[in-house]
Amino acid sequence: MKVLVVEDNPADYELIREVLLEGPGSSFETANGSDLASALTHLDAEECSVLLLDLGLPDSQGIETVRTVRARFPGVPIVVLTGLDDEEIGVRALQEGAQDYLVKGEIAGPSLARSIRYAVERSRIDQELIRKNAELEAAYEGLAAHEEELRQNLDELSRAERELRMSTHLLTKAQEIAHLGSWEYTPATNRVVWSDEVYRILGLPLHESPATFAEFLESVHPDDREAMNAAYRDSVERGEDRYEIEYRVVRASTGAIRHVHEKCEHFRAAAGPVVRSVGMIHDVTERKQDEADLRAYAERLKGSNDDLQRFAYVCSHDLQEPLRSIISFSQLLERRYRTQLDGEAGEYIGFIVEGGQRMQALIRDLLQFSRVTAHGSTIRPTDSAAVLTEVLGDMRLAIGETGASVEYGPLPMVMADPTQLGQVFSNLIANAIKYCAPETTPMVRIAAVEDGPSWSFAVEDNGIGIAPEYFDRIFVIFQRLHTKDEYEGTGIGLAIVRKIVEQHGGRCWVESTPGVGSAFRFTLKPA
Ligand code: ADP
Repeated sequence: MKVLVVEDNPADYELIREVLLEGPGSSFETANGSDLASALTHLDAEECSVLLLDLGLPDSQGIETVRTVRARFPGVPIVVLTGLDDEEIGVRALQEGAQDYLVKGEIAGPSLARSIRYAVERSRIDQELIRKNAELEAAYEGLAAHEEELRQNLDELSRAERELRMSTHLLTKAQEIAHLGSWEYTPATNRVVWSDEVYRILGLPLHESPATFAEFLESVHPDDREAMNAAYRDSVERGEDRYEIEYRVVRASTGAIRHVHEKCEHFRAAAGPVVRSVGMIHDVTERKQDEADLRAYAERLKGSNDDLQRFAYVCSHDLQEPLRSIISFSQLLERRYRTQLDGEAGEYIGFIVEGGQRMQALIRDLLQFSRVTAHGSTIRPTDSAAVLTEVLGDMRLAIGETGASVEYGPLPMVMADPTQLGQVFSNLIANAIKYCAPETTPMVRIAAVEDGPSWSFAVEDNGIGIAPEYFDRIFVIFQRLHTKDEYEGTGIGLAIVRKIVEQHGGRCWVESTPGVGSAFRFTLKPA
């Protein structure tokens, strides 16, 4: 064990050295530092087991010497050497970190060796303690970090729990509003779970009745029970992934019959058996009732429409005959008794004939309108260009009289009744020529472009145009924007166009700028 004796008095050093070495089998080895600086140099150069430190050195005095050494070599044990009457400084040295102190002059062999061993051992324990303390501190810090992490996890967990509670609440509310309940069945455990809405739909007290398949089946209308049971069983046996079925349930609370729509999905293990079935039942009673009401309403509407159609047809057909008589006899009267009648009477007869002829035109158009029926048409692949050419041929005279120019581009094959399509073209072209500003030559252009899944036709003119507020009104029967003195007409032409186009599953509308012209558009399905 290497002992560095820091002692400026050579005699004292010699004494100590002898005392240390004299014991039998002494394990001590000594070295001397005569001042603090040489001692520190020594400690720098080689390791020492213990330092015997005199506190009265030439370059350092008193307790400061201990501090200096401790600061530089905190791991080297120190035994302080004090004077006879200076035990107090020994105690202070202990407080500063020295392991022991010895009074010079009282140094005896065994006590010196013991003190040195004790100092070394104490220092070792101190070092161990420091190390353990550091370990403990590190462990504590780790623990604190862990605790913080734990706290964060807990916070996250409680936030997730809050969110879960909120979304469960929202889901329950949504199911309640939509009258849509959900269930889950695990065949392995025979466990069934129902959402609150299932209890409500079945009219069972919430969570009081057991959620079992048998209980559910009990709520199904006896006439539908087998079908409902078979829907589940068969889909499982056939290896299907899902099924849908509608059936009735009888509410346990009121006995009311409710219609439900059930959808179920099976989740299977790789080998095939169903491990879980998840389903939803939707109370569609109101929807079914609405559908039935709507069907009955449509039925009634169709009936009265048919009646109206028949009535319009019969009326217009039967009115023609007496009207023809009125006109013919008025004309006969005027011709035969012209000489006996005064001028006013002749004028009145003229009014009768004119009114009668107008009524004839109205009846003719009305008859045409009432003849446009779905079952009266044969919709088939039709060359719209050929139909248009024929229409223009029929209108040749009228077109020629006005000097109108009519142009058209390539036109497609469409699904249409050729006669009715001809009627559409003819009504629109007649209007395009008729509603022309004075002193203007009518110019009509017919074209078709692809519009999604349909063909969109356009009949464009350079006529008087239509104000936007009338865009819808003009398609209503008998709706005209002009008097018969301004422009001849009955107000039925566009109503016929719309009726035909809609019966073909298309749409028709107008785009127009007053004073510039109009474009009447309609769509038809491609052939
Ligand atoms: P009618 O031509 O016998 O009056 P329609 O049903 O064919 O009946 O037309 C309804 C109204 O729409 C017409 O009175 C006219 O005011 C307006 N209209 C129709 N086509 C055109 C057009 N090409 N340009 C301007 N106005 C039009």
